[in-house]
Amino acid sequence: MIPASCVKKVDDNMLHIDVLTIFPGMFTSPFGESIICRAMERQLLSLQVHNLRDFCLDRHRVVDDYPYGGGAGMVMRPEPAVRAIEALRGEERQALVVLTSPQGEMFSQKLAAELAGKQRLLFFCGHYEGVDERIRSRVDREISIGDYVLTGGELPAMVIIDAVVRLLPGVLGSSESLAEESFSPLLEYPHYTRPAEFEGMKVPDVLRSGHHRQIREWRRRQALWRTFCRRPDLLEKADLSLAEKELLAEWQTGRKLEES
Ligand code: SAM
Repeated sequence: MIPASCVKKVDDNMLHIDVLTIFPGMFTSPFGESIICRAMERQLLSLQVHNLRDFCLDRHRVVDDYPYGGGAGMVMRPEPAVRAIEALRGEERQALVVLTSPQGEMFSQKLAAELAGKQRLLFFCGHYEGVDERIRSRVDREISIGDYVLTGGELPAMVIIDAVVRLLPGVLGSSESLAEESFSPLLEYPHYTRPAEFEGMKVPDVLRSGHHRQIREWRRRQALWRTFCRRPDLLEKADLSLAEKELLAEWQTGRKLEES
């Protein structure tokens, strides 16, 4: 389980996250170290991981059953799931209930920012072939972390929580680093550290010049170029200056000429 020092009570000034899972132990290390644990220690976040089996009423604490209609695999039963969601959703300031699902809306930086603005989140981690369809009636959002199928919803919940928590005010050292990060909306510029030359590859002179305006301009242009090359779809949402739009048009013409 999460170290006791990291688990705090619900408080208006922090994000409170509950997780429902049949494998609570999976969360120990990822949430017991580094930035997430520090956020809990600094009372910016409270996080509680619950064993779904604790909400079963039968002696064997069974959370799954055979699918109606036959077929491979098991399905998560609605009774313990709905009982757990209702118990943890809360009455005042209800938690937003998130089901991790490959069929959900695609997770993104924008969605992370939206979730970071909530006061309470409750993640339900699916398993087996998935959840009984009726569980969906108690869920507010279904979120996928990508077009691939994982064995369970624990890793997706951890991914989403990590991306959300680092956006909480005060969690990261510098809010500047968030402003320039990838998907805000461009991809981020390249980074370098020492040594100044490594295997014949030199750090661009401008970064060692100490000239802040030129460094800023170089980074912006690199971010634009990187986004143009790797994720041109992101440029549609970017707020670009006239000069940047002209630069893009030049690059596009250059690319068309190369292709012809
Ligand atoms: N049979 C399901 C299907 O084809 O849509 C997949 C079930 S998957 C093996 C078991 C659980 O893992 C899901 O209920 C969900 O909670 C989680 N999961 C798997 N892939 C995921 C993804 N890409 N994003 C979010 N959750 C995922």
